[in-house]
Amino acid sequence: MHVEVDQPKCVASGQCVLLAPDVFDQDDDGIVELLDADPSPEHHDDVRESAAVCPAAAIRLAPR
Ligand code: SF4
Repeated sequence: MHVEVDQPKCVASGQCVLLAPDVFDQDDDGIVELLDADPSPEHHDDVRESAAVCPAAAIRLAPR
């Protein structure tokens, strides 16, 4: 799995950080920061859920 985030779309809701704190963080303005673009398999379910619940559709996933 490869992860990309679209920071201009992010509305700083923090959902992704709550669900997958090893993969996503937020900067001082609450905008998403990607910690791990190629997360290990144990994180995949949490990352998929983050992408599904992101209110801005700012998380894109690609298979690897
Ligand atoms: S869930 Fe989406 S909108 Fe919320 S912080 Fe993460 S990327 Fe941004």
